[in-house]
Amino acid sequence: MKKVIIIGAGLGGLACGIQLQHAGFDVTIIEKNGHAGGKMMPVKIGDYSFDFGPNTITMPGVFKRVFSNVGESMEDYLELIRLDHHTKNVFRSGDSFIQSIDPHFVISQLAMLDPYGAKNYWGYLKEVNRLYGQAESGFFHRSFHSWLDYLSPGLTKAFFSVRPLETMAHFHKRFFSSPDILQVFNRYATYIGSSPYKSPATFSLIGHLEMNEGVFTVKGGNTKIADAFSQVFKKLGGTLHLNEEVSQIVIEKQRASGVQLKNGTKIKGETVIINGDFITATKQLIKEKDRPSFSTKKLDAYEPSISAFVILAGLKTFQKDIHHHHVFFPEDYRKEFQDIFTHQKLPDDPTIYISHSAYTDRGISKGSNLFILVNAPAVQMQSEEAVTHYKEAIYSRLEEQGIPIRSEIEAEKIYTPDSIAHLFHAYKGALYGVSSHKKKDAFLRPRNASKDTAGLFYVGGTTHPGGGSPMVTLSGLNVAKEIIDQHKKKDSDRTKSKKSTNS
Ligand SMILES: Cc1cc2nc3c(=O)[nH]c(=O)nc-3n(C[C@H](O)[C@H](O)[C@H](O)COP(=O)(O)OP(=O)(O)OC[C@H]3O[C@@H](n4cnc5c(N)ncnc54)[C@H](O)[C@@H]3O)c2cc1C
Repeated sequence: MKKVIIIGAGLGGLACGIQLQHAGFDVTIIEKNGHAGGKMMPVKIGDYSFDFGPNTITMPGVFKRVFSNVGESMEDYLELIRLDHHTKNVFRSGDSFIQSIDPHFVISQLAMLDPYGAKNYWGYLKEVNRLYGQAESGFFHRSFHSWLDYLSPGLTKAFFSVRPLETMAHFHKRFFSSPDILQVFNRYATYIGSSPYKSPATFSLIGHLEMNEGVFTVKGGNTKIADAFSQVFKKLGGTLHLNEEVSQIVIEKQRASGVQLKNGTKIKGETVIINGDFITATKQLIKEKDRPSFSTKKLDAYEPSISAFVILAGLKTFQKDIHHHHVFFPEDYRKEFQDIFTHQKLPDDPTIYISHSAYTDRGISKGSNLFILVNAPAVQMQSEEAVTHYKEAIYSRLEEQGIPIRSEIEAEKIYTPDSIAHLFHAYKGALYGVSSHKKKDAFLRPRNASKDTAGLFYVGGTTHPGGGSPMVTLSGLNVAKEIIDQHKKKDSDRTKSKKSTNS
């Protein structure tokens, strides 16, 4: 059996491992942390349960394919619940707007908040649906190695039809005029770790996922997706090592031949797949002489995506007024991105996002389990005092909005860009690898097959097609297919050459 080693048990690594194990490969996944799922991480503090990482789940069909491709049924492992009114957005003006897949409900709110938006809403839904369709059929299921790939027949037209040259913020102005409502839709840029004022309008397709198809949650916690993936992987005979760290990829004659662990153990494999962060893993695990296409200088020049300042707060009394997804917007949204990307500092007046899964799934946790996230630059935090100061400022803002934090809080844990970098080996704590501000970085994400080393692949959110739980899962499916196809081709070439030698 051909041996495959996957470095990292994130969703991308697990999805890829499942497909390869099912196709007859002997797959070993090595994960440095004590849980499978990578950034999709369960956290328990006393009686409070939290999902760290993916709180907003879209594209359930992608997760379903991981199971159905190997003869399993997602429904046997997971119960997905669609949230009809999924996100409550609160503005400084005091107004609020609830996002929903019910267009009539959305239009009735827009009629009061943004009459221009109310008039255009059907057109918006149609256009984001079109963007999604073009991107899905043209780009999601294949890798791109150079701009030439976009010039292949059929793709050039598809490429220009996804509005790569327009910014997301500009695109949304075609449909909405209220600054409040524009913030709601521009926030989608943060789902790819970027600024709406710089990233391409292509990513407005996220609106299709949220406003046409719906936002989902998993009963018992979204981390159940990772649990289910690792169960299926092991059921198929795959080997999962937790609490083991890879320190080097062994490369001989420009071919990957295995890995070395931090404890000195060497494991051989004909194929090595990196699921860890592209920049960190390439720098740390591959000697510079073995990666001429990615010198350390070149890797250091990438602009990292957004990181996060996260507070997990357990409130003793259930807060029925905090929605499953609840967002408090700042006074000046553009300034938030200037603070993050230009001044590389924590925003003075940030957007505060809360995920409160107990709102939908009351049995999941004691009281209210608030996952509070503020966008942060991917840089080191200065000091413990700075962290406490920032946390207190967030609590004060929430209390001004009527959320009782200090009088209710019983459990608390804070994650900064530093701790995210440390926990997942994420480059400077970036959640999604490289930002999508430059056209090159948005459309030519690091390719899945290594340029320099045969038998070495990358899978996950920092490579193609991009970050976010469904995209990284897709990348797992794509990479597995690429490896399976390569092996099939090799086998058939070998059979042909044997036949021609015999005849
Ligand atoms: C705070 C936060 C909020 C998010 N919110 C959402 C959301 O709402 N919706 C959504 O869809 N997505 C969200 N995401 C993004 C989503 O979590 C990621 O895109 C996705 O989970 C990444 O999966 P991955 O396969 O790329 O691997 P990762 O989850 O990055 O896992 C890679 C694994 O590799 C391991 N590793 C690295 N180096 C080594 C080594 N040398 N040896 C062994 N193991 C190694 C790491 O420990 C890690 O477990 C969020 C992320 C964060 C952090």
